[in-house]
Amino acid sequence: NRRFVLVQHTQPDAEPTPAVWKMESVPVPKPGPNQVLLRTLWLSLDPYMRVRLNEADAYMPSVKKGEVMVGGTVSRVEASNNPAYKVGELVHSYAGWQDYVLSDGSDIIVKLPEGAKVPSWYLGSLGMPGFTAWHALMNIGKPKAGETFCVGAATGAVGQIIGQLAKAQGCRVVGIAGGKRKCDYAVQELGFDACVDHRDKEFASKLAAACPKGIDIYMEQVGGAVSDAVEPLLNLFARIPICGLISHYSGAGLDGRDRLPGFLSNVLFKRFKVEGFIIFDAYPQYYGQFLKEVTPLVESGKMRVREHLLDGLENAPQGLADLLTGGNFGKVVLKVAE
Ligand code: NDP
Repeated sequence: NRRFVLVQHTQPDAEPTPAVWKMESVPVPKPGPNQVLLRTLWLSLDPYMRVRLNEADAYMPSVKKGEVMVGGTVSRVEASNNPAYKVGELVHSYAGWQDYVLSDGSDIIVKLPEGAKVPSWYLGSLGMPGFTAWHALMNIGKPKAGETFCVGAATGAVGQIIGQLAKAQGCRVVGIAGGKRKCDYAVQELGFDACVDHRDKEFASKLAAACPKGIDIYMEQVGGAVSDAVEPLLNLFARIPICGLISHYSGAGLDGRDRLPGFLSNVLFKRFKVEGFIIFDAYPQYYGQFLKEVTPLVESGKMRVREHLLDGLENAPQGLADLLTGGNFGKVVLKVAE
């Protein structure tokens, strides 16, 4: 049973290096009464992992030294003393960066339906990122046909889904992404109306040109220079779900300028609705509804899904480092076992 345990925290202003973890091998555990043994097949790599490498707790406790690194997984039931789970069934849970884990079922998010088409989708389009996209758009953004919707990290796990959902609601959809390849993909494959490269020297003016009627809904995932370019384009009564601020997670993306007074004046004068959310809160009320609505779209191919596939548990640290610096192109999922 291979597993990555934390050996040192990451400084708040640094990127994580492989020295943060050590991989160790321990015996495969045996399930006790009411427990199941889960074998990790797929591991999800997600930006929130960076936040949990800091020593200080944030909205979730940090990973402590000696603990197994956290992570969403699709796992197979290998042995079961729990009548709710049969050997061979697939489940989505948070088994972390390891081959095997014991569970009493309480931490299992969902059992995959028999014959689930692509199990790793439960870590992306049908899992936490897809649900994040749906919740932010439908419950916070509340789109109306004809409005302009804008999202950064547009081809990533959340961005690719929310853009397609906004398009289906009749919005003009403008993405922001790193590089021409990602921008072309957003327009040609995901059906966005426009996508602007945030590394372009004329990024701000090109974004303004792509949003001739301003922006009514801005899904905030990035912060930093991307938000700076979006803010002047926001319309009266704009809705801004605050989903993530990836450019700040390792302390970069800030130039020391205090943006708060200007932003709050805009919130007041332009009557913005700004709402931060952490998707875990929404599971009890909405995850079932989300699956019902979005599963047919994904399974029929109406909604395009792009995964960034990695292979081998040992590659998790590099995979996370790449994700945090835009090296991924799609939802990052790592295959751990067949
Ligand atoms: P992605 O698959 O979108 O991967 C991250 C992307 O962020 C990179 O590919 C890169 O895209 C972009 N990025 C990284 N650094 C920068 C930077 N300095 N400036 C601009 N863009 C940058 O990740 P997810 O879809 O999983 O997550 C997107 C955001 O949503 C994150 O902020 C995450 O923390 C947040 N989130 C929040 C949740 C919640 O409950 N509130 C739940 C899920 C996600 P590119 O190359 O195109 O710039």
